[in-house]
Amino acid sequence: MLLTPDEPRPVLLMNTIWASRSQVNDDLTTVAGLSDFLGFATGEDDLRAFRALRQALRDLAAVLTRDTRPVAQDRDLARAVEDLNRSARRAVAWPQLAAEDGELVRHDDGEGAPADRALAAIAAEAVELFTGEQRDRLRACYAPGCVLYFVKDHPRREWCSPGCGNRVRAARHYRRNRAGE
Ligand SMILES: [Zn+2]
Repeated sequence: MLLTPDEPRPVLLMNTIWASRSQVNDDLTTVAGLSDFLGFATGEDDLRAFRALRQALRDLAAVLTRDTRPVAQDRDLARAVEDLNRSARRAVAWPQLAAEDGELVRHDDGEGAPADRALAAIAAEAVELFTGEQRDRLRACYAPGCVLYFVKDHPRREWCSPGCGNRVRAARHYRRNRAGE
């Protein structure tokens, strides 16, 4: 289950660490979890590589958004840059054009195992995300307890998901009612 299904892939990878009411959860603790995330079979090496890339992405997002949440402390910018670049070099990929039913469609092709290509592609998209026009719209979600990131895609969006918005409104409502007692 993805809490933020419409985010770019690097953000989806970051958000495989997510909070429920009482704890922080991690969707990528097993090979099966990674296979679920990618939609194809993976192995232990892939899991290690994706976890390292995820840590790098979260650290870089934390730096970029000046994230003050407890979950975003202890980041290591130099190591994160190195890990992201290593991931980006893991496979060679190129875009291919296809004509399908009269429509021009992009397909990504390349050399290397599917997991390596996915890793490299997500790392490349992350370079775009952190340096391109979306970089100023990357946000940490400050709803209570939330550990997710999102790209602010319209001016009034404050939270990663409707669920977080609802929790914030409920908490405000509760505080107002308490104050009026
Ligand atoms: Zn949130």
